Amino acid sequence: KSQINGELLSRSVRYALERARARAGEWKSPMLRLAHQQFLKAAQLMGLDDNVRQRLLFPQRSQVVTLPFRRDEYEQVETVFGYRVQHVLTMGPTKGGVRYHHDVNLGEVTALAMWMTWKCALMHLPFGGAKGGVRVRPETLSPRELQRLTRRYTSEIIDMIGPDKDIPAPDLGTNERTMAWMMDTYSEQVGHAVPTVVTGKPVVLGGSRGRKEATGRGVVFVIEEAARDQGWRLDEKTAVVQGYGNVGSHAARYLDELGVTVVGVSDHTGGCFDPGGIDFERLDRHVAEVGTLEGYAQGDRVSNAELLELKCDVLVPAAVENQITAANAGRLQCKMVAEGANGPTSTEADEILGERGILVLPDLLANAGGVTVSYFEWVQGLQNTMWSMSEVNERLRKLLTQAYRRVSAQAEDHKIDLRTAALIAGVERVSQAKLMRGLFP
Ligand code: GLU
Repeated sequence: KSQINGELLSRSVRYALERARARAGEWKSPMLRLAHQQFLKAAQLMGLDDNVRQRLLFPQRSQVVTLPFRRDEYEQVETVFGYRVQHVLTMGPTKGGVRYHHDVNLGEVTALAMWMTWKCALMHLPFGGAKGGVRVRPETLSPRELQRLTRRYTSEIIDMIGPDKDIPAPDLGTNERTMAWMMDTYSEQVGHAVPTVVTGKPVVLGGSRGRKEATGRGVVFVIEEAARDQGWRLDEKTAVVQGYGNVGSHAARYLDELGVTVVGVSDHTGGCFDPGGIDFERLDRHVAEVGTLEGYAQGDRVSNAELLELKCDVLVPAAVENQITAANAGRLQCKMVAEGANGPTSTEADEILGERGILVLPDLLANAGGVTVSYFEWVQGLQNTMWSMSEVNERLRKLLTQAYRRVSAQAEDHKIDLRTAALIAGVERVSQAKLMRGLFP
């Protein structure tokens, strides 16, 4: 219990961890456990200052709110839980998405906020990490119900957010509409339009060109860099993409455009496998009509578990967390995993993949395209300017390529995997900033 990755934890860190685990039942989450394991491993390898180590285990601020909202029928009022967690406020405003999902809890949102801290630091963005969530099944709500819920959520956390405080964005289960409602609710409160309070807005409200596609595009930029290092020609390679939401659908499309044969895709209803390659025009027509992949008749139908074990060169988990675990990591038949989702791989699976020589492009880097273009959107908003699509994409490619080079150089120098190298890069920057600012009072 008092060891993480074989290291004996110092007394103060151990007590802090135990105190929080014992007292906050809400914090008991497998995702927070994973985030802690990863962080403590990096901290150990880099010899992180013990005081900073203790401080960074937990978020600086978190708020739990209850959200009553009116259903469309029978005037019924339903009350659900909402969260906003700000992990590190040291380097600027905090940044991170809001997810609507029936499993969301404080521990999960906290883990996601921590990952946002490392991700922003790794990308050299002037933000700390935050995350929000509402514990609800968004697919069961009408647009009017979603709007009422979103406005109530925004209003309950309104003191925490703002263009120089904390800037929400879309995540699982939310989209540009959600951001438009959040922006409107905040703007109504302060009395004038404040587009910079959120990112991932519709372009007509000051959203950035290329933001919607940015996470998927970024995944592919990072795959391109890694492929160059491996001496691969991508047009000879195959890929499988799990998840056909905002990340997976764009990643799959861009891989296809590069000449990669995408042999499998899936969403929560299941997936399909066609060794000849998915026909994306046909697939997108189906998704536009039906809303999901359900009933899409191309190739063989496969379950999500089967899809992950298909033979391919690049596997892109772009759905939810905890997909690659000790149970299936030994059976994966890919050569590279590019994490579009946050936290799709468990610590045990990481080890197995490492032993099997399967390269993992970690979430902190592979899916950082989203928050990077969010940063571009925020900057454009503050400067009242608008960049072209090509300017956004060129800048995105440049920042991701630089980050990839920094991480892979670290990994090579210290003989560590890319995830640990990415974490160390993020944690190092945050820790430097913390030590520079000193302790108040
Ligand atoms: N939700 C995205 C992520 O996990 C983007 C966050 C943002 O744009 O602020 O990185």
